[in-house]
Amino acid sequence: MGKKFKIIYDRKACIGAAACAAVDNERWEIAEDGKADLIKGEKSGDSDVWERVIDEDLVEISREAADSCPVGCIRVEEIEEDSSE
Ligand code: SF4
Repeated sequence: MGKKFKIIYDRKACIGAAACAAVDNERWEIAEDGKADLIKGEKSGDSDVWERVIDEDLVEISREAADSCPVGCIRVEEIEEDSSE
């Protein structure tokens, strides 16, 4: 069974350097306010933190985008699954 991962993006911290969109323009685009939007991301709670679940095949490029961010406001984490399926 494939592992699941999650992109976690703290939009407050974004300075609009656009490195993420240069690395992965299928997940990241620059919005009108100059900050990045996580495409198909969902807002998590009241804060300006966005999340998107991804499959393992997108982890490498998502980590590259995260590593490219000069303020480190993108993280990629593995989602712990319950193995009882
Ligand atoms: S690389 Fe980081 S700071 Fe730059 S636009 Fe993307 S999320 Fe924002």
